[in-house]
Amino acid sequence: MRPRVLIAGIWHETNTFSPIRTDLAAFHAYQWAEGEGLAPRYAGTNTEVGGMLAGAEAAGLTVVPGLFAGAIPSGPVTRDAFEAMAGLIAGLAAEERPDGVLLALHGAMVVEGVEQSDAALARRVRDAIGPDIPIVATYDLHANIGPALVDACDMLIGYDTFPHTDMGARGEEAARRLAGLLADGTRPAKVFRKLAMITVPQMQATAEAPMAGVMARVGEAEAVPGVDVVSVAQGFAYADVDHLGVAVTGYGTDLVAVEREVSAVVDMIERARDDFRPTLVPVADAVSRAAEPGDGPVVLVEPADNVGGGAPGDGTAVLAELMRREVGGTVVLWDPAAASAALGQSRFRGPVGGRTLPDLHGPPVEIAGDVVFAEPSVRYIRDGAYMTGQEVPMGDVAVVRTTFGLNVVLTGERVMPFDDTHLRRVGIEPAREPVLVAKSGSAWKIAFEGIARAAFVVDTGGVCASDVTRLPYTRAAVRRCWPFAG
Ligand SMILES: [Zn+2]
Repeated sequence: MRPRVLIAGIWHETNTFSPIRTDLAAFHAYQWAEGEGLAPRYAGTNTEVGGMLAGAEAAGLTVVPGLFAGAIPSGPVTRDAFEAMAGLIAGLAAEERPDGVLLALHGAMVVEGVEQSDAALARRVRDAIGPDIPIVATYDLHANIGPALVDACDMLIGYDTFPHTDMGARGEEAARRLAGLLADGTRPAKVFRKLAMITVPQMQATAEAPMAGVMARVGEAEAVPGVDVVSVAQGFAYADVDHLGVAVTGYGTDLVAVEREVSAVVDMIERARDDFRPTLVPVADAVSRAAEPGDGPVVLVEPADNVGGGAPGDGTAVLAELMRREVGGTVVLWDPAAASAALGQSRFRGPVGGRTLPDLHGPPVEIAGDVVFAEPSVRYIRDGAYMTGQEVPMGDVAVVRTTFGLNVVLTGERVMPFDDTHLRRVGIEPAREPVLVAKSGSAWKIAFEGIARAAFVVDTGGVCASDVTRLPYTRAAVRRCWPFAG
């Protein structure tokens, strides 16, 4: 008999400083598939679930499809939404009594009133199936891993890449490892180390210093006999939780070897600590540099308003400077009201952006121009290296083009710039733009690094500020971490 494995998960990166609460509708709007709908939605995609489906097939496992739900990074998940989703997943686990469970988690979800929320989900599943059924879970490299998640699962496998490109590979690995645990009836030794360190997205790219060296060491660790998986959870800085920050997880058959290898990775990260300090450019200087003539776009990277980190994506600090200096290019802005208002119009004039947190992200900015694209309920399929094949919504979209060639892309949904399809879909060829504003930490590199003449990381305020000491953390555990404490 082929072992039966439940595939399920909840994926959310929660920015507790964002006022945008994440309710059940936000999950339904972004990623929601359950039961018979799971495989058609994700088979063949570069997502954890896509990889789990392929890996299960390859390993001779029969899939019991559960619920997979994901919402665009935003503020805390409502308790009702979590109860509904966790209840569905745990209920199915109890009813189906699978031989094993694969969970696709993010690892940085924060539910209102629930400490270590990803762990709370895993614990629900654990309670439904009992202590003997193995659970293998994947997590995003931005996970804030705490001890409760390590306890609830038999194995955790984190992404090894940022910008993220290995979701499918990690999902496939999770299925393969679970099949191995089921075949030999063993459970791996676990090692979990939490570091008192908080790092920010633009210093976390795995192909660049300081992380490139760390990831090379992870590769060496995983080649050691008796060591199966070592993952670095670099953490998601924008959450006021006790389990914030960098962690390393390791699994294998040889506890001593896993401990030694994990310690070596931890030491390397701690030694590199000062190399994780970001350097930032004032907006005015960055726009001056961008206004100089040259071939190819200058990317103005605004991590403080990183949509993929839960920021609103309606911050106007960079837009205001581009308008003031009359510099052309493309900026994407979340503004459902303005996007809808521009539908069916040939001209647009009015204030845009700055609706969510005007004190932090800048007030609305007046723009005027021709409406060169307008369509209701735009959707597109990601075709870059991030979550390839995943369908995502943009809501109503209007592109307003000013006389000096600035395209302001007004969207009904918050759009993560992890591919260039979101621009091509609305008639903009990114390589031909003089300036691209990317509200992103490092993920923008997948789409734009190859075409960029230069990139400047601008210093603006916001709920994803690169200088984390600007943010109002309350937890004493956070204040004990670098860069707050040395
Ligand atoms: Zn991530």
